[in-house]
Amino acid sequence: MPPPPHGYEFGGPLGAFAISLLVPTVTYIFYFVCSEDGCPSSSFLRDPVGNIASKWPGLLGVFDWDVMMHYCLWYFGLAVMYFVLPGKTGEGVVLSNGKRLKYRFNGCTSLLTVVAYCGFMTYREGFQWQFWAYIWDNYLQLITATFIFSVSLAFYCYISSFFTGELLANDTGNVIYDWFLGRPLNPRIGSFDIKVFSELRPGIILWPILNFAFMAHQYNTHGKVTDSMILVNVFQFWYAYDALHNEPAVLTTMDVTTDGFGFMLSCGDLMWLPINYSLQCRYLAMHPFELGPLGVAGVLAVQGLGYWIFRSANGQKHEFRTNPNDPKLAHIKYIETKSGSRLMITGWWGIARHINYLGDWIMAWAWCLPTGYRGPLGYFYVVYFAILLIHRERRDEAKCKLKYGADWKKYTDVVPSRIVPGIY
Ligand code: NDP
Repeated sequence: MPPPPHGYEFGGPLGAFAISLLVPTVTYIFYFVCSEDGCPSSSFLRDPVGNIASKWPGLLGVFDWDVMMHYCLWYFGLAVMYFVLPGKTGEGVVLSNGKRLKYRFNGCTSLLTVVAYCGFMTYREGFQWQFWAYIWDNYLQLITATFIFSVSLAFYCYISSFFTGELLANDTGNVIYDWFLGRPLNPRIGSFDIKVFSELRPGIILWPILNFAFMAHQYNTHGKVTDSMILVNVFQFWYAYDALHNEPAVLTTMDVTTDGFGFMLSCGDLMWLPINYSLQCRYLAMHPFELGPLGVAGVLAVQGLGYWIFRSANGQKHEFRTNPNDPKLAHIKYIETKSGSRLMITGWWGIARHINYLGDWIMAWAWCLPTGYRGPLGYFYVVYFAILLIHRERRDEAKCKLKYGADWKKYTDVVPSRIVPGIY
């Protein structure tokens, strides 16, 4: 079979293979490079390979059945909440077969239920709930559990897509490429949508839970919780809450409308996101850092600016697309495209074509600055996220060019900046 009409993405099959190896490798390396004596530790800097080899517990050591069982309980427990907790029902975008799929929106209630349960158990155990220490003590095995689960899920979705008659997102015939980028567009078991569920719940809800465990570790080992630890916990919890509170907005993202569900999304959502986005709190658990009142004020200002841009831009697009006749959007000018969709050319989307990415990236700074200036790993997120957003913007641009043709050219003439007004 030929490659897709817009060409291979992510470096084609070879790139897909390389990323599939790189993602778990980097995640494990990040686990090993940090220890109480530095991040990276001095012994790692002296002899990286020898240092990791000396800590590597062997293939059997990185896996634990009990942790695997706990992780399965986590994923399926959240799936049960998807069905039983109250929530609204909504429809996704119109698919190429003319149908619209139904989804339940109760992610926010699921997050709050999990947090309430954790809070209750912590209080009941006199703030010594062993679960927090369990996460810290079995973190390596937890990484493995998320990896095994996400790979298995990607295999299940790839193989089942040959039998279910689902719509396909990638069908190049190249097994590695299709498995990586995802063959099925909306893999489902009955009314349970594996992609949308995995995109928002098991990984995004695990992320603040891991952060809480790191905060508990900092308290247990250093006898205090620093202002920096509190800030990162609050910011990232708020980000997760915000994503779930605006759950219907995920249905119009590229991940849901265009990408298949394969290793990229499965591993990205279930392993990469919770494990590597919580690196700052893991770092702070081992290396407490006090920002002081001025530092706190500065970081709050950066977060506030980022969140304002991020939320207003995303909200404006969502409202414009779902309720274009809303009087509060009357001042927005737009291009009426041949495809039927309107493209805003004033308001946030008239400042840069992905001004929402800029807001998200500014927030990334507010999550990294609290780690201070003693180790590069605390800044991994902000560097990685810049690469992700630039690459994502290029992919989205290619998709929009294909969809809107000459109308997209008109938009880019009026709004030339991609992400940073006047600079990029
Ligand atoms: P966007 O919200 O940026 O949406 C892009 C789409 O919006 C385009 O494909 C097009 O879709 C539509 N569009 C583009 N220009 C206009 C316009 N002028 N007027 C109206 N509609 C327009 O998509 P993403 O999914 O990339 O991002 C959503 C949010 O998620 C962002 O804030 C991003 O930062 C965040 N994100 C966070 C990640 C993380 O790991 N923390 C990862 C990825 C994203 P259409 O075909 O409908 O016209």
